[in-house]
Amino acid sequence: MKEIVQAVLGTEVLSFFESLNLLQAFERGEFACHKCGDVITAENFRAVTRHHGGLKFSCDKNECLSSLAALEP
Ligand SMILES: [Zn+2]
Repeated sequence: MKEIVQAVLGTEVLSFFESLNLLQAFERGEFACHKCGDVITAENFRAVTRHHGGLKFSCDKNECLSSLAALEP
């Protein structure tokens, strides 16, 4: 079963990364969209899923979101 976390914009995004102990890396811009490669920020962050033990992020472009949803588990 796929685990996709749809995040709410604003402070909940930051809480999400904080809960994974990744807030500092996020604020340094270390995460990129799995499809287009844009750096993920609080403004364009849209969704994240676990994929083969790693986290895959999607920005707010529709094509990136569809691609994330289509990843094989
Ligand atoms: Zn993207």
